[in-house]
Amino acid sequence: MSFGLGFSPALRQRVHHPITGMILVVAVSTIPGSAVVAQDKTPFTPDQGRLFLNNAAEKARELQKQNTKTFEEFKKSVTKEPFQYGKYIVNGDTPISTDKDLEEFYKQNVETAGLVGAEFIVMNKAGIDIIWKDGDKNNLAYCVSNAPVASGGFGNRYNTVVSAMADATRAWEAVADIKYIHVTAEDSNCTPTNGNVKFDVRPVNLNAYLARAFFPDEDRTARNVLIDNSAFELPAGGKLSLTGILRHELGHTIGARHEHTRPQSGTCFEDKDWRGVTDYDALSVMHYPQCNGKGDWSLTLTLQDKNGVACLYKAAPEFTIDPNICKPK
Ligand SMILES: [Zn+2]
Repeated sequence: MSFGLGFSPALRQRVHHPITGMILVVAVSTIPGSAVVAQDKTPFTPDQGRLFLNNAAEKARELQKQNTKTFEEFKKSVTKEPFQYGKYIVNGDTPISTDKDLEEFYKQNVETAGLVGAEFIVMNKAGIDIIWKDGDKNNLAYCVSNAPVASGGFGNRYNTVVSAMADATRAWEAVADIKYIHVTAEDSNCTPTNGNVKFDVRPVNLNAYLARAFFPDEDRTARNVLIDNSAFELPAGGKLSLTGILRHELGHTIGARHEHTRPQSGTCFEDKDWRGVTDYDALSVMHYPQCNGKGDWSLTLTLQDKNGVACLYKAAPEFTIDPNICKPK
């Protein structure tokens, strides 16, 4: 979801978000009457396209001024996971644990509705990068619930998840000095309160996103990677895979924000809690393609992603940081 725009729900064009399964809001299509254009299969000429976009942007700005939600209205519009330790979900797959944090998000994003934008970018609050400390970064222990589906586990999808997690964690470990450890001994007790792991990997069946994760500063109960059933039913022949989805989600678990938070993407606004580590990277694993990204849905790490995370956590032994891309911390 994009909350930076502040349109009334009735005027929003709802588009299924391919990576999170969330409803996205597309400014271009919020204009009354534009549905006619959207349904017309005749392609625009470039001039017509530019004119349409300019008009749409102008009207969107007007609507934005008129339709700022109150916090209560905003809160009602946000997806809340309907289970214990459930979080609010904003920006597609960004979890917010408490009402206080949601209100902070509202103040920074919806109330002011200012378009700040968005490189490889890291969660940063009050000038401090939100990343794992040296003592923790090589022990990112996790469990994968092996309980039957009826008991909240992955059931016969367990091996698929274990293998996708192994591939996805390896992609980040290959470049940065971090280590994810799958603690199989905890898989039969893989709950949000299990203190023997840093995070739990469990299934959900919400159809609100494909998966969601957490940021490193969250409490143990909030540190979960939740994979929706829909992530196991991806269209055949497409580039989107469970491993790709998990590469993206694991980026969040080590502090990476959505690449499209930067201003250069010109769309998909998030909040101001970030710091650029590298230059803008439209191909980043953290950039949603529909937010003016140029990547496909394979969600692989670009050179910017690799250098960005290596600059934050120091490089893995087999990886060398390109000092033209970023400076190590
Ligand atoms: Zn994400």
